[in-house]
Order: sequence, then C-alpha cells, then structure tokens
Amino acid sequence: MTSTEKLQRLAKLERRMLLIANSRGHVVRTSGPGAFIVVKPCQQRLYHCVKCGLEIEVNSAPAPNEIEIAGPAVALNCPKANQ
Ligand SMILES: [Zn+2]
Repeated sequence: MTSTEKLQRLAKLERRMLLIANSRGHVVRTSGPGAFIVVKPCQQRLYHCVKCGLEIEVNSAPAPNEIEIAGPAVALNCPKANQ
C-alpha cells in the first residue's frame, strides 16, 4: 500500500470515527494544532474529545488483536455533552 493509499484509508476511517464520536456527544477535532497525536505515520492516530478528554484511536492497519477504531470515547457517552 502506498503512502497516498494509506492516507486515503486513514481519512475514510477518520470520517467513521467522527460519526461514532459525535453519536456519543463527543466533540473531536481532526485538524489544527494538537488535534491528534501521530502514533504511526500514515497509519495510526490518537484523537481526543475537546470537552471531556476521552480518547479515540484510528488504525488503518490493525494487528489481529486490534480494531480500526478504538478507545474509551467509542464505548462511553460524553460526560460533558450538554455543557
Ligand atoms: Zn467527550
């Protein structure tokens, strides 16, 4: 897979991640300074909710024991959703 293909796959997963996060009331930024941490270039990024700080991770090439979109913000509603 080329770097361009990896980034396209990552962008697709990012959109899915946002839908999941928003459905739980989280507000996640995907651009701008400090929006995410690069765990593995072109593959894995760690985002967080700007309201509550819970994390959500995207991995375009997960290991067999990992999943593409993971983290506490997937499983839990935003405790500060209405603030
Ligand atoms: Zn939140």
